[in-house]
Amino acid sequence: MIDQLSIAPLEDWGLPMHNGKMLLAGPCSAETPAQVMATARQIAPMGPSAFRAGIWKPRTRPGHFEGIGQQGLEWLAQVKRETGMKVTTEVANREHVEQALAAGVDVLWVGARTTANPFAVQEVADALRGVDIPVLVKNPVNPDLNLWIGAIERLHKAGLRRIAALHRGFSSLSKSAYRNDPHWQIPIELKRQMRQLPLLCDPSHIAGKREMLFEVIQRAFDLGYDGIMIESHHDPDNAWSDAEQQITPADLVAMMERVVIRGATPQDPAQQHNLDELRAQIDVLDKILVQVLNQRMEVARSIGQFKKRNHMSVLQTSRWDSILGKVLALGREQGLSDSFTTSIFTAIHDESINLQEKVLLGK
Ligand code: PEP
Ligand code: MN
Repeated sequence: MIDQLSIAPLEDWGLPMHNGKMLLAGPCSAETPAQVMATARQIAPMGPSAFRAGIWKPRTRPGHFEGIGQQGLEWLAQVKRETGMKVTTEVANREHVEQALAAGVDVLWVGARTTANPFAVQEVADALRGVDIPVLVKNPVNPDLNLWIGAIERLHKAGLRRIAALHRGFSSLSKSAYRNDPHWQIPIELKRQMRQLPLLCDPSHIAGKREMLFEVIQRAFDLGYDGIMIESHHDPDNAWSDAEQQITPADLVAMMERVVIRGATPQDPAQQHNLDELRAQIDVLDKILVQVLNQRMEVARSIGQFKKRNHMSVLQTSRWDSILGKVLALGREQGLSDSFTTSIFTAIHDESINLQEKVLLGK
């Protein structure tokens, strides 16, 4: 299924690009006509791909601002008329889709809580059948790659082709500096499985606070992301939702000037051969590493046979302690971090134990 996905490259989406990247910016929520227009007028000169504003807000607990509702769509229509920007909002059910389409919203996004619910995603997909509109799919709140892929597949099956993944981080029980843990390996794995799928980052909901936005954006671009969606409000301190993570349009401009966008290939193509040479060295070293690992496993197998003949258990904890102590000391001498040495040797030792277990069982 995944291999058959035919997804339109971002350049063909018909949206303005900002330095070769997609840039979606605007307030967390549409609050009042004045707030929407003041923010939109300040964001328009940046030439973003679209102006964002939440109309229906999925709040974790009732009693908070739950979005202005349908009347806000008229304000987005005014943004389009007055500034020429495209507009985007979140949809979570059929009614939202129908109202957003009727109001001329150009891009839709599926929120994190919706992606986690296949019934809701299917309802949105069914409402979009036969409609050609770009849809951004946020990751589910929980770190489950397949739920994310499933939502993308449901929309693709409904005929949508302008689909992108939007990484906004994941809830976690453990305390962390982030509002939502990025778990960068999950979107990287998504990209590995779905090469054609554009990948965007939502630094606002990952960071949860202004001070951390820059490092999240920079990391996303360093990892080759295709763009960002960021919350920006003309008066962030008085925003009705997510006040701590919103920045003024002026601060957004400054941040985008600071961020370094590096390409996937060298700026000077003549430099490519230097990279090729270094990569050839890595390939040679990797081959040696694999050969050495295999030799080590062969010795482990012989030890397993010895233990079997001599009625010994597979694991001797003191031996593992002493191996780890020795390799940590060697690693430190060579400038390797303890965490790296420990994780590599834990994996090697686990495999040795598995191998010896098989020898004991005569497999
Ligand atoms: C939002 O973009 O304002 C929003 C509610 O996001 P999420 O679905 O990522 O929580
Ligand atoms: Mn928000």
